[in-house]
Amino acid sequence: MANLVVVLTYILVSGIFISKALANLNDIIFNGDYEFIDLTYPFDEHTVYLPNTKNFEFTKKIERFQNDGTWYSSNEFVVGEQAGTHIDAPYHFKATGQCVGDIPLDKLIIPLIIADIGSSVNNDSNFVLYKHHLDFMLNDNMGKPCFIIFKFGWSKFYKDKNKYLGITKNNTFNFPGLSGEVAEWITSSYKNIVGIGVDTASVDPGSGTDFFAHKTFANAGLFIVENVKLDQPVPEYGCTALILPMKISSGSGAPLRLVAICPKQIPTHF
Ligand SMILES: [Zn+2]
Repeated sequence: MANLVVVLTYILVSGIFISKALANLNDIIFNGDYEFIDLTYPFDEHTVYLPNTKNFEFTKKIERFQNDGTWYSSNEFVVGEQAGTHIDAPYHFKATGQCVGDIPLDKLIIPLIIADIGSSVNNDSNFVLYKHHLDFMLNDNMGKPCFIIFKFGWSKFYKDKNKYLGITKNNTFNFPGLSGEVAEWITSSYKNIVGIGVDTASVDPGSGTDFFAHKTFANAGLFIVENVKLDQPVPEYGCTALILPMKISSGSGAPLRLVAICPKQIPTHF
């Protein structure tokens, strides 16, 4: 009996060891089954920003060949926290909320869900997402922690800033966004969702002035990612998001590099 226990223990321990060895992350993500998709717009003169946000300014300071023929460059940039592809930390709309540098990595490296609502939006710059648009499709990673990006189908307009922001003669904005109803529904019914992304300039509709979605998400401790670059196919589930903002200790937001690691073979079931 004692021998049997020893044998069973050996099998169990070696089984755990083998399965752990097989689960080496490098073996998985570099075996050719996965691709890296960049969901970030470049920071340059085309970077989109909203009022009261400093646009990306890049200044060439030193760029030259030195006396020994080798090249040296070192430049400077200035940018508002909420320009281009960026994160809004809860502190953006909540005085006691987390700053960018406080958001833990286990919220920033996380399963990604894409909620494609482009067909409902149908290029309507005044579309507002209500709960009835989502009742049948809000995929929540089966209740496990995840980051959801709402795809309004707006990335195709990014290069035309006036169209992307829906700027009118009166300098108002018109682009799609989330209703307060949806923001409250998500934060009350889907506690596992840690952040919300959009392929527009703001999670709130462009024409809105109350920032209700921003406030609701901030109060619930969720972060927001805006100006997500979704001009290429991304599986609706099965990807891992790397949401990596500049680690600004007291930041209300920050430019970030948003990347999805996705299976090349799109899963056939959730
Ligand atoms: Zn925002």
